[in-house]
Amino acid sequence: AKGDGGAKYHIYHEEMYKKVALRVMMESEVRQALAKNQFSLSLQPQLEAKTKKLYGFEALLRWQHPERGMVSPEDFIPLLENSQYMVELGYWVIRRCFELCQTFIDKGLTDVRIAINLSAGQFADPHLTDYLIDLLAEFSLEANHFELELTEQTLVKNIDSAIEMMNGLRDIGFSFAIDDFGTGYSSLAYLKKMPVDVIKIDKSFVFGMLENRADYQIIMSTIAMVKKLGLLVIAEGVETSAQLRSLTENDCDIIQGYYFSKPIPETKLMEFIDTKIVN
Ligand code: C2E
Ligand code: CA
Ligand code: CA
Ligand code: CA
Repeated sequence: AKGDGGAKYHIYHEEMYKKVALRVMMESEVRQALAKNQFSLSLQPQLEAKTKKLYGFEALLRWQHPERGMVSPEDFIPLLENSQYMVELGYWVIRRCFELCQTFIDKGLTDVRIAINLSAGQFADPHLTDYLIDLLAEFSLEANHFELELTEQTLVKNIDSAIEMMNGLRDIGFSFAIDDFGTGYSSLAYLKKMPVDVIKIDKSFVFGMLENRADYQIIMSTIAMVKKLGLLVIAEGVETSAQLRSLTENDCDIIQGYYFSKPIPETKLMEFIDTKIVN
């Protein structure tokens, strides 16, 4: 038994080492990638369920790696979770969203709204509020063009400072969405304490909602509850017209998913915008 324990300990160590090595490699690669402009954003449209009117976009990070090709954010963001580079990359994302918003407005899409994902580390950064205030001034943009997406995990990690920071940013005009709703371990109690505007139902519930009774019930009761709290509800991962119809009939406000559009790369955005502007 003693030998086994030793072996396990050894394997555990090796795994740990691999993880640390991967993270260190990732950090230096991200630093270089920022300098070499390998990051871009893809924007996924969000539409009002009933009218099919454009509500806004979610900004999703893309990394075009010279050798590895397009690296999924799920393959590098979790590795950078507690790193200063994620904070730095997060600031790059925010600035890019301001630039894109400015471009949209110049194009005539004046009531555009962009949802920005914030990582836990980024949200814990004491400079975030000042950074956002400075950008508003620099671009002369109203904060109500931006929705900040936080996960339940992020909120729970920082609960006291989170509420304070959110209240401050909401006073300025930013709105807040809870992302991946229903997948965290947090209780519903925090919903009434949290100054949030929008709840995003996680796509894992949406995918099987018409085949799986539990997923269906979870979605429908979430929508009902969220509406009773006076908040807006977004369903993500909507891929079929049947899902769209069912969600719309049950009062879901906003729909995001491949059924309407995959995330659109920056290079194709203006084409999309042109179809949305009716003069
Ligand atoms: P998320 O915030 O939950 O973003 C939604 C994800 O669902 C995106 O994956 C989007 O492409 C995908 N999606 C949307 N509609 C559909 C659909 O109908 N079917 C399917 N199969 N997928 C759909 P993506 O772009 O790969 O991003 C993955 C995750 O990476 C995001 O999940 C978010 O947690 C993180 N992420 C992406 N960009 C950023 C960023 O700028 N900052 C931070 N902190 N995290 C980001
Ligand atoms: Ca999100
Ligand atoms: Ca999500
Ligand atoms: Ca997710």
